[in-house]
Amino acid sequence: MTQSDNPEKPRLSRESKEEALRRILKKHPGLAGSEATPDAAQPAAIPEAYYRIEKFAEYQSIALQQDLARKVDLESPYFLEHDRIARDTAVIGGKEYINFGTYNYLDLNGDPRVNEAAHQAMLKYGTSASASRLVSGERPPHRELEEKIAEIHGTPAALTFVSGHATNVSTIGTLLGKRDLILHDRLIHNSMLQGALLSGAQRQPFEHNDVKGLDELLTRSRRKFEKVLICIEGVYSMDGDVPPLPDFIKVAQKHKALLMVDEAHSLGALGKRGRGIGEHFGVNPADVDIWMGTLSKTLAGCGGYITGSAALISLLKHSASGFLYSVGMPPPIAAASLEALRIMEREPERVQKLQENGRLMLELAKAEGLNTGHATGSSVLPIITGSSLLAARLSKALFEEGINAPPIIYPAVEERVARLRFFISSAHSEEQLRHTIRRTAELMRKLSESPLPVQKG
Ligand code: PMP
Repeated sequence: MTQSDNPEKPRLSRESKEEALRRILKKHPGLAGSEATPDAAQPAAIPEAYYRIEKFAEYQSIALQQDLARKVDLESPYFLEHDRIARDTAVIGGKEYINFGTYNYLDLNGDPRVNEAAHQAMLKYGTSASASRLVSGERPPHRELEEKIAEIHGTPAALTFVSGHATNVSTIGTLLGKRDLILHDRLIHNSMLQGALLSGAQRQPFEHNDVKGLDELLTRSRRKFEKVLICIEGVYSMDGDVPPLPDFIKVAQKHKALLMVDEAHSLGALGKRGRGIGEHFGVNPADVDIWMGTLSKTLAGCGGYITGSAALISLLKHSASGFLYSVGMPPPIAAASLEALRIMEREPERVQKLQENGRLMLELAKAEGLNTGHATGSSVLPIITGSSLLAARLSKALFEEGINAPPIIYPAVEERVARLRFFISSAHSEEQLRHTIRRTAELMRKLSESPLPVQKG
């Protein structure tokens, strides 16, 4: 058939495109999908908010927040450029600050021995694993690091991933499915929530550290699901408190549920030798099914790990997409984290100093009448302002005085618990902690009473 034989052709030239579309959709309703009407299918009828990124509601809300911050003279306290290693102090824009914005808990980022281990691994293996470990193979630092992680946790095997966040997403997404249930503390980290979403399992939060509430939930729901996973953290990243692990283990065992503990902020911070919440409570490591940790905090690197039974590690190694389809850790980073673990073992005084600092900072804050929420005096200390604006103003005032303590504001936390969050390090001196808490309390009182200066324009 030639073009001129085509019966559709002459009609197209007489009717408008819209009419033609209506006619075709009438003839083939399946083409429109369930909701589309001929009008909606017209490109002109599609709002810009659906195809222009600067019109996306999500972007507009960020732009609005930035605009408001400028109006009240609050430039963003985020994405600051540091001039050197961030330790107890940091240099930002040429000025030195007492630093609480980085989780260099045992002051091992920048340790010359850690740097040297990374350097040697770089000379030998380069800066990249250059592909997934499945295809590009492994380097000795990968295996040695995983063996050491397993040894520290008292578990048979471990596996590292290139991102801590991806470790949780990929592990939970791999282990659970749509017939399963995930029960998690209400304050659990975003990476575990994303893993739950990926898995397709049903998800139900329980109140913070509420073992009894969890037990009741399981009594009601356990039988409706196949696998059930309970997710908690060793030290809560926003709140700096420690869950009653032995009680969680009892409930998990009673209901035949799996228990996963994220040790991102507790490795190096809890236990006599810094081995985390398991050592802190003296539990049998096998009573927690999935231990998770990150390399980005105490271990001066980047990435995450899972450690537990040989079956767990084998399953993840052969089916976790964030491991299989992602590059292996850069060998220098694996070597750096391995050296950091070795130093943590050899120098337990670092762990003790961090624990003393955590306790002191909490005592000082309480003595000043500051709201420290659930904090129990560990590696993280929140100081709750109760408003995002006050948190931002307080952080800015401290920054102007040479103290770096970033605010955590809505939507990262609920507005009523907006806060400053202090990451404490073994390198902080008592004087730095006393000065910081004194000025935080004084400035908080002053700002709570003073009106907000609004910029014109
Ligand atoms: N788990 C917790 C509890 C965290 O706080 C974080 C982020 N700091 C992660 C996982 C993700 O780790 P990473 O930043 O190393 O990707």
